[in-house]
Amino acid sequence: MLTKDEIREWDNAYIAGTYARSPLYAESGKGAICTDKEGKEYIDFSSGIGVNSLGFCDSGWVEAVCSQAKKLQHISNLYYTEPQAELAKMLCDRSFAKKIFFANSGAEANEGMIKAARKYSFDKYGAGRHKIITLVNSFHGRTVTTLSATGQQAFHKFFDPFTEGFEFVEAGDEKALEAALSSDDVCGIMLEFIQGEGGVIELSEDYIRYVEDVCHKRDILLLADEVQTGIGRTGSFLCCENYGVVPDIASLAKGLGGGLPIGAVLLGEKCMNTLTAGTHGSTFGGNPVSCAGAMAVLSRIDEDMLSDIRKKGEYIRAELLKVKGVAAVTGKGLMIGILPKKTDSKIAASECLERGLIVLTAKEKIRLLPPLNISYDEINRGLEILKEVLS
Ligand SMILES: *Cc1c(COP(=O)(O)O)cnc(C)c1O
Repeated sequence: MLTKDEIREWDNAYIAGTYARSPLYAESGKGAICTDKEGKEYIDFSSGIGVNSLGFCDSGWVEAVCSQAKKLQHISNLYYTEPQAELAKMLCDRSFAKKIFFANSGAEANEGMIKAARKYSFDKYGAGRHKIITLVNSFHGRTVTTLSATGQQAFHKFFDPFTEGFEFVEAGDEKALEAALSSDDVCGIMLEFIQGEGGVIELSEDYIRYVEDVCHKRDILLLADEVQTGIGRTGSFLCCENYGVVPDIASLAKGLGGGLPIGAVLLGEKCMNTLTAGTHGSTFGGNPVSCAGAMAVLSRIDEDMLSDIRKKGEYIRAELLKVKGVAAVTGKGLMIGILPKKTDSKIAASECLERGLIVLTAKEKIRLLPPLNISYDEINRGLEILKEVLS
């Protein structure tokens, strides 16, 4: 057993320094409570960045994952497995999707979405109609191509050359979108309905409807990055449902596996047969154990749970708006951004951690992504700490 100091020293010595870690040495967890090496408990308002949809070690989820691990952990996509077929059907039954491609992460799901959009256009219109428009302040992942798709200049350095064929427009600016479309080489518009990493910023309903309309009229695919907003997070199964918008493709990842790595590309009617044998693939994609975890998550996100998510979100919002130090609260359901009046969000997050509450940040906001099944008792315990820190 390593001590805290040894863990930190080994981590610093042997792990690439890509993360600025906070001083939590997580040992175990149950529901929305994480326990560290020394037995200190933390309320978790982060779900491991929206991943642990059912909290830590939910018993049904553990049972599903363990029993699949004992039966068959992997065989590759050269063969058939039951969990993959079953999960794909569940996702199609629950959404606009007609077919699913399984990946392992959000960036990979977005790569699949980008490839499907480009190939759809290639098949129908030939080469050259390959541009994808994304929004300023978006976040789509860390691979070279998804970084290229990410509309933040801060991400466009060090790794040149980036992938061609992306253009950024300001969210809400219909004229800018019109101008970007004038080149007639656009095959898709890719967006987060609520920008997550960018600061928990919702797109306006008018703009979303405008984009949907433009896409339909010109056979441009609407690509919804639902990596953070999907799987019930915003109070509907997919965030696009809040707006009555049906995308052509959507990507899922974070909350899908309940803590196991899995991503999915949801392919709508137009491009359900676009990705054919040999055009895309993944060794780990649709791994049976990850699929079993995802099914355990999906089987729990029913209408009752979605309604609970909306109610809990409204409760948290109302409580936060009573706090003097809070300037604004954004987001939907259990995806919540808090703009503090004075405190820096990073400092506030580290003060919360010291007092036993795990929260995230997104730019100048504190970001909350609690487990979808968090109890009111756990919510209240976390809110007490947040109020202390923000007041
Ligand atoms: C987290 C995130 C990604 C990237 O997901 P990874 O699993 O880290 O590759 C992409 N898009 C959005 C909207 C995200 O929030």
